[in-house]
Amino acid sequence: MTEHANKPLEIDRLVPKTPCGLTVVITGNGKGKTSSALGMTVRACGHGLRTCIIQFMKGDLYAGEWDGIKQLQGVELITTGKGFCGLLGNSYPFKEHRANAQDAIQLVKEKIASGRFEILIMDEINNALHLKLVDLEQVLEILQSKPPLMHLILTGRDAHPQVIELADTVSEVREIKHAFRKDIEPQPGIDY
Ligand code: ATP
Ligand code: MG
Repeated sequence: MTEHANKPLEIDRLVPKTPCGLTVVITGNGKGKTSSALGMTVRACGHGLRTCIIQFMKGDLYAGEWDGIKQLQGVELITTGKGFCGLLGNSYPFKEHRANAQDAIQLVKEKIASGRFEILIMDEINNALHLKLVDLEQVLEILQSKPPLMHLILTGRDAHPQVIELADTVSEVREIKHAFRKDIEPQPGIDY
């Protein structure tokens, strides 16, 4: 258990009078979208809420969250795909990326239907939609048919206007600077 210097004797938990499952979109070209979703996962854990994270287009390169979340209770993370479609150095054909993303969509539906999670994160799904690995209708159907109390979090650049329209909370992370522009390679813990 973590000790907090200013921990009050009694922690008042603010419980919403009317619980409401939100759709949250984190998009934009700056760094912080996936990290934001992982931050909400940690926060949710403190409330005993269970989170499922489905990562689209991410099976190829190790990221710390794959093992990091094992230290949290009630979090399941599934990576799907073979890395970023169309990115230099990624040699997998579009067809394969699309088939993987379609499997991920199926997985999302199964996890929602299971009733085992209060929060479901679709990491990089905005990119997957932008790249046509999944169809707009598929994403809209998920958003429109979600259980009323379930929270959905969608991350990735180039969020579709209709997804933004349906969402309750939308943030755009804008790049002011990024270390990679100074040719600094990605750093563990910060970038992956
Ligand atoms: P993070 O996972 O750090 O929250 P993100 O989800 O906002 O980042 P993505 O677009 O998913 O950003 O990028 C994934 C990784 O690539 C991150 O580690 C990020 O730091 C790094 N990155 C972001 N922008 C660029 C860029 N323009 N060129 C190279 N790497 C980048
Ligand atoms: Mg990301």
